[in-house]
Amino acid sequence: MTENSRPLFRKVALIGIGLIGSSLAYAMRRVGLAAHISGYTHRAETLEKAKSLGFADTLHLELASAVNDADLVVLATPVGAFGELARELAPHLKRGSILSDVGSVKMAVVRDVGPFVPEGVHFIPAHPIAGTEQSGPEAGFAELFDGRWCILTPLPDADSAAVNILKTFWQRCGSQVETMDAKHHDLVLAITSHVPHLIAYNIVGTADDLETVTQGEVIKYSAGGFRDFTRIAASDPVMWRDVFLNNRDAVLEMLGRFNEDLSALQRAIRWGDGDMLLTLFSRTRAIRRSIVDAGQDIGEPNFGRTRIKR
Ligand code: NAP
Repeated sequence: MTENSRPLFRKVALIGIGLIGSSLAYAMRRVGLAAHISGYTHRAETLEKAKSLGFADTLHLELASAVNDADLVVLATPVGAFGELARELAPHLKRGSILSDVGSVKMAVVRDVGPFVPEGVHFIPAHPIAGTEQSGPEAGFAELFDGRWCILTPLPDADSAAVNILKTFWQRCGSQVETMDAKHHDLVLAITSHVPHLIAYNIVGTADDLETVTQGEVIKYSAGGFRDFTRIAASDPVMWRDVFLNNRDAVLEMLGRFNEDLSALQRAIRWGDGDMLLTLFSRTRAIRRSIVDAGQDIGEPNFGRTRIKR
């Protein structure tokens, strides 16, 4: 057995078994990262779906039995539920275990979960920058984290051995791992993920409002640009409500910048300033190329989508 095929943990508990939780289970199974994977969810219907998919060794509707004797516990529900879940599961955590999460915001997780972490448990927040617009246990797949970044945001007094174990965990799930402080994480993700989602929700909402005026033509003639926004705007409503409620300051700061730049573009269009438009559009095209060069997307036309089936 090589170093990379040995289980890193005897038992891993996934609290939330939707897209990210189930994908983690598949990714762990792929490389034998845990001898036992337990999954917790709050609804019997979701538990039954997960049972038929078979990605966990045991499934639970009670937190205590899910986390009992676990070496790693990962919170993978919408972030708004983390505080209450942490309060309930804290008394059942094993001394020396790691408590982590996959939440898309990090300051709020430190605020909501931190106070409940018992003495002797290593609390190391994390965020895999990987996802799709699908949700639920049926949406998960083993390759979700391959080549994508996972950001760890350990607190300044975190145990470095525990941080290294979590780093190895994510690397063996296929990710590249970066460490940064929670506040910086929230600022970076506000512009790379949260504001783009807000723009998508807004533009699709506005188009929907206009449907009555245009009598169905927005959907009928939806062009590539609009269709791409609808993919993002189809993301899970509860998850994204919680992201905006819990990364308020960073999102508002980035929206301020966004609004200023949008006004500058509006002015350029009004005054026929083609040079300004050309300079910006050339810069943004180069950014797309650098994302493809960095292996974070493919360079195929239309994101490599094949023809739409009729
Ligand atoms: P998801 O597919 O909707 O799954 C969420 C899971 O949490 C479901 O099993 C859901 O069960 C359960 N759940 C919801 N509310 C709960 C509560 N109050 N108590 C217990 N369980 C609850 O969402 P996801 O995409 O996996 O997202 C999970 C986390 O990953 C979020 O914190 C999100 O910020 C983060 N994240 C998401 C992405 C992404 O692109 N999707 C990327 C990176 C990180 P039911 O379905 O039965 O309600």
